[in-house]
Amino acid sequence: MDRTTPTVTAPRRLPASLCPHTPTCPSADSPDREAAHTVAAHPEQGWSLLCNGVLLFEDTGELLPDGKVIAPHRPLVVAA
Ligand SMILES: [Zn+2]
Repeated sequence: MDRTTPTVTAPRRLPASLCPHTPTCPSADSPDREAAHTVAAHPEQGWSLLCNGVLLFEDTGELLPDGKVIAPHRPLVVAA
């Protein structure tokens, strides 16, 4: 068994087979996942789909491809 898989702490990138962009987008488990290109935007529904499969909501919440939910991390501006 090859046990050389490193503990990854650095930002990860999608393989070129999954991402047509240059440079390739960060993977969904990378800290900079929001930097991935938007491949589908639905502002009227308040979300956009990033190249790495992350659903990014307009309140900055995120839904990762593995089902994990990231809570919104920017304060909402509530219109009076
Ligand atoms: Zn991409």
